[in-house]
Amino acid sequence: MTQSQTRTAIVTGSARGIGAATAVRLAADGFAVGVVDLEESATKATVETIEAAGGKALGVGADVSDATAVQNAVDTVAEKLGPPTVLINNAGITKDNLLFKMTENDWDAVMGVHLRGSFLMTKAVQKHMVDAKWGRVVNLSSTSALGNRGQANYSTAKAGLQGFTKTLAIELGKFGVTANCIAPGFIASEMTKATAERLGVDWEEFKSSRAKEIPVQRPGLPEDIANMVSFFANEASGFVSGQVIYVAGGPKA
Ligand code: NAP
Repeated sequence: MTQSQTRTAIVTGSARGIGAATAVRLAADGFAVGVVDLEESATKATVETIEAAGGKALGVGADVSDATAVQNAVDTVAEKLGPPTVLINNAGITKDNLLFKMTENDWDAVMGVHLRGSFLMTKAVQKHMVDAKWGRVVNLSSTSALGNRGQANYSTAKAGLQGFTKTLAIELGKFGVTANCIAPGFIASEMTKATAERLGVDWEEFKSSRAKEIPVQRPGLPEDIANMVSFFANEASGFVSGQVIYVAGGPKA
């Protein structure tokens, strides 16, 4: 979905997985892309893929839960690529455990990346969106927002992001900014591979057993999510705001 003008997007957690596929897709759509991840060195592959295809990208290292790092990252992208008016809050971690075994650190770490991280990034980027009188925020929720055994921290954070998104849509709408949420189902990535390892299940077996529970009978791919982001980031989606779309190969988790 090409744009009528070149704009700058930031995708957090885009060194790999859904974030990397999203950064590549937005660059193909015509955005200059700030590829933000914990370590700048980890962003190299995504940046090289974008540049090899003729796109524009900048790798920036930042922990999204650190306010100073976030402001520096947004300032750097604004200076080198232009004011960011598209933000994809994708960075995420899991620290799964049953409630009675979940530590306070596991709770705080997950809240820190998903909720505090999305809050800090959006707060830093919205200034550029308001100045431009145009913007797009896309937050990554999950089917786990509906509840998932062993994920009290993660499902709470992902449900919280849905409320955050709706409030952003209400507050920022008058500035031409939309905010929407994508809630992926099972997507094959390093995150779900780590879950298989933790459960002691072979990765290929894990994917095929999960696929049997999905109506379209396959695991999701990072590109499936990138396609949805592409729609929300586009100028044509300006009347769609405050929505949560489940991209899960079927209607439910
Ligand atoms: P992933 O492969 O684990 O990638 C997440 C990326 O985020 C990694 O590059 C990671 O860096 C980075 N990151 C972690 N903490 C960060 C921080 N504090 N600051 C900046 N970057 C940070 O995960 P994914 O599967 O692509 O998931 C992407 C998003 O989709 C997440 O929000 C996830 O919760 C959500 N989601 C995924 C699925 C799924 O089935 N995969 C389903 C529903 C929702 P490091 O490698 O250095 O840790």
